[in-house]
Amino acid sequence: MNFSLLLLILIQILSVKCTVIINGPDNNVINKCNLDPALIAEIASYKNTTEFIINEITQKWGTKFFSQFKQFIDIFGARPSGSKILEEAIDHMIDLALKNGLDGVTTEDVNVPHWVRGEESAVMISPRRKNIAILGFGTSICTPPQGITAKVIVVRSFEDLNTINESQIRGKIVVFDPPFISYGKTVIYRTQGATRAAEKGALATLVRSVTPFSLYTLHTGSQYYGENVTKIPTAAITHEDADLMRSLQTAGKEITLTIKMFNTFDMKISRNTILDLKGSEDPRKFVIVSGHIDSWDVGQGAMDDGGGMMISWFVPVILKYFKITPRRTIRSILWTAEEPGLVGAAAYLKAHENELMNITFIMESDEGTFAPLGLDIAGTPEARCVIQEILKLFSPIDKITESGSPGSDITMFIKKGVPGASLLNANQRYFWYHHSEADTISVQNEIDMTNCAAFWTAVSFVIADLSIDIPR
Ligand SMILES: [Zn+2]
Repeated sequence: MNFSLLLLILIQILSVKCTVIINGPDNNVINKCNLDPALIAEIASYKNTTEFIINEITQKWGTKFFSQFKQFIDIFGARPSGSKILEEAIDHMIDLALKNGLDGVTTEDVNVPHWVRGEESAVMISPRRKNIAILGFGTSICTPPQGITAKVIVVRSFEDLNTINESQIRGKIVVFDPPFISYGKTVIYRTQGATRAAEKGALATLVRSVTPFSLYTLHTGSQYYGENVTKIPTAAITHEDADLMRSLQTAGKEITLTIKMFNTFDMKISRNTILDLKGSEDPRKFVIVSGHIDSWDVGQGAMDDGGGMMISWFVPVILKYFKITPRRTIRSILWTAEEPGLVGAAAYLKAHENELMNITFIMESDEGTFAPLGLDIAGTPEARCVIQEILKLFSPIDKITESGSPGSDITMFIKKGVPGASLLNANQRYFWYHHSEADTISVQNEIDMTNCAAFWTAVSFVIADLSIDIPR
């Protein structure tokens, strides 16, 4: 896996998440649509079916659906890439699909990173003694057994770092203290901070957690070492401790920390899980709905991405139960190892590259399952027009945005020309919980998640059943 390429992809994905523009149904793009009146009438004719799906799910299935989800999160909790618990969670979702009568279930093996966090601690020794909470970033190396004890230099940005003479960085712990602008703009200190500091001779880096809000919360995530750069330990600290160290430095105090970080790293076999509801007329063509089943090792991975995985798992299962079969196959994919760098999706793309023309639309929910609002789509203007017309069936869940690269795992398919979308939802607080101990079932609620599941099922059904493929 080329990590710098992966990093670029990741930055592009993440940099757009917080800058989406919500266009109403009457925006300019939509006004330019010139759909065939027969297609408009055909889409409108789905109203009875979509209403049936939405009403059945929201009125009869909400409590059962959410309790299955809650049980899953309670039993398995965090599901890190390469862990045994992740494989047990995958088995559980397969069993649950089979028990619910869906037979088209397969898995594909994927070689995935298995980074296991060990003991981690940091203590400020001067100017006064204080414990500093830290949370290592995935793939960070360990400190030596005795830890690293060194002076601290606090910087706001890479620009700050560049203006400082290398002699002032060498042998120190660099604390990156960037203000949260957006996830995409701020996350670069987590993903690249260690590399940039190591280039100037730093011994370790600590990074202000990438979140707009903190109750002394630590947020982990992936990071990537650049080639030909000394690997140094790297971890998150809280906003509160970043503020403290900045303040002490501004007051002219010399700060010394001892950091200890231990972990192990190897590779393991995991699985992408594929759940098919075979199409009635053109089963070789697919509409993919997806979410990732792995999570970080902190919290319970309920929001990221238990919710998105669960609503995508539900689509073929509930349509099968309703005996509503679309023309094309609906393929639900529970991606493995998204968190260490879209590893499961990359493996699927590699194995299925010659079938890309058969994927007529690809969907992913990986930005929360709060109240649904619509879709964030990528595709041609013609594709946008068709999707916008379909969304009219779901008013007021009919917002359409074009962030440029919706989803996470699906971005690489979209770059290959497959039209796709991610679930637009009221996720303003998403990054409060993201990759932290606070990502628990308590963040999710039954009504919002059921509404997401109902919308996700009905909208993917229409796309899979329409007489035309989504234009590309
Ligand atoms: Zn995720």
